[in-house]
Amino acid sequence: MPDTIVIGAGFAGLAAARALRKQGEHGVLVLEARDRVGGRTKPGTIAGLDIDLGGMWLGPTQTRLKAWADELQIRTYSTPMEGKGCFRIGGKDHRGDGEDVAGLFNVVEGIDYLGARRKLGKLIAPLDCEAPWDHPRAAELDAMTVEQWLLSDVRTNRMRTLYRMVCFSLFCAEASQISMLFFLHYVKSGDGFDVILSALGEGAQRYLFHGGVHQIARRIGEELGDCLRLSQPVHDVQWNKAGVTVRTSTATYHAARAIVAVPATQLNRIAFDPPLPMAKAAFHDRLSMGSAIKYWIAYDRPFWRDHGLNGMIFADDHPCAPCFDVSPPGQEKGIIAGFFDGNNALDHSDAGAPARRDALVEMLAEHFGEEARNPVDYVDNDWTGEQWSGGCYGAYAPPGLFAKYGPLLREPVGPIHWAGTETSARWTGYIDGAIRSGERAAAEITNA
Ligand SMILES: Cc1cc2nc3c(=O)[nH]c(=O)nc-3n(C[C@H](O)[C@H](O)[C@H](O)COP(=O)(O)OP(=O)(O)OC[C@H]3O[C@@H](n4cnc5c(N)ncnc54)[C@H](O)[C@@H]3O)c2cc1C
Repeated sequence: MPDTIVIGAGFAGLAAARALRKQGEHGVLVLEARDRVGGRTKPGTIAGLDIDLGGMWLGPTQTRLKAWADELQIRTYSTPMEGKGCFRIGGKDHRGDGEDVAGLFNVVEGIDYLGARRKLGKLIAPLDCEAPWDHPRAAELDAMTVEQWLLSDVRTNRMRTLYRMVCFSLFCAEASQISMLFFLHYVKSGDGFDVILSALGEGAQRYLFHGGVHQIARRIGEELGDCLRLSQPVHDVQWNKAGVTVRTSTATYHAARAIVAVPATQLNRIAFDPPLPMAKAAFHDRLSMGSAIKYWIAYDRPFWRDHGLNGMIFADDHPCAPCFDVSPPGQEKGIIAGFFDGNNALDHSDAGAPARRDALVEMLAEHFGEEARNPVDYVDNDWTGEQWSGGCYGAYAPPGLFAKYGPLLREPVGPIHWAGTETSARWTGYIDGAIRSGERAAAEITNA
């Protein structure tokens, strides 16, 4: 009988199991629904290269993921950003160095931009990511969507569009769906706008992994050996003070406690007996997962660089922006990766990969030239259809939930502890946040 059963072998569950074993707790069993580890990170290939169909970027301040990569000697490279990015909002085009969008805006819009940043700065300053619900204006901010804030505090249409695009790029959901308090919390947990949105400097999109980030999960999974059981979806958890009984379709396991490390929106697919506190169950039921289809397209060479372009497109009139040059150095192919996000993902989910590829090629041809019509390979992954994720990148809170019920995310229930990127105070929604959440849940047990 193990001491601890970890449910879910994404980065959070793997981190929890690893941390427990490092603390000398060897009675750990990890049960994973899929036939692989890594959860919302996933291996794929394009034009013979190993790639990430899910999470992939690393930012310099994501120190837990960086530490794992260093330990396993998995090398990174910088997202290629040399040259100009292609930006278009409201019919106006701009090509700016790196990710400089300033040229898109006239003087009035520029003043609006600065005003919005100042107001956001004031709102974000008193927010403590460990307890965003203690923000002095928590209830008020949680009662409004980001869209409502845009309509009241941002004056120009183009600036509102910019923030709407920021929302679906960060959350894979629309500004009209997300609590303003949750939005501020998410951005601050990722070190603020300049870091969370950038591929330069300290930016969250600064580095990519040679061979993909998913291999880190695979290697940690291998370390666990027999303690990891794949293809074991957990259906129910019976619990009392003495411990837990965890059932999958083929086996029953007993342990002193459990760490549940499934996506926050998947929790209620497990039947708990006795049931979880009603407020917690209802809270998780009402959280939402964003929608995204991630694509990769390969060319014989990165021809956009001939035109002085860095491969980045951020445009409001195509469903498949943003996209980025992600070509690994040391090989010849030109590789672009990007997303159908939020409503764009829902609207293109049923169309199928060939139609999505055509839509992408149109966008690339418009911005990079006719050579874009000759890709050598294309692959995409629709995360809304992934049974054990239910969407991505992370769960977000619609209005009216987070200020009151947010504390329930992490609070243990009897012998059950909670992990998963959604429970992290730092880099929530990201791989780094997932690792931190698993380590925090393990510490709750070892420090008890
Ligand atoms: C397309 C995409 C792009 C992204 N880009 C980035 C990025 O560039 N950088 C970044 O840091 N993050 C990115 N993310 C987010 C990042 O991948 C996630 O935040 C992180 O992987 C979440 O880890 P987790 O362990 O919390 O959850 P998950 O990875 O979802 O792991 C949960 C595990 O629980 C399992 N599970 C679910 N239900 C059960 C059950 N009943 N029984 C047993 N097991 C169960 C699942 O199969 C899964 O393996 C991206 C995600 C996606 C999908």
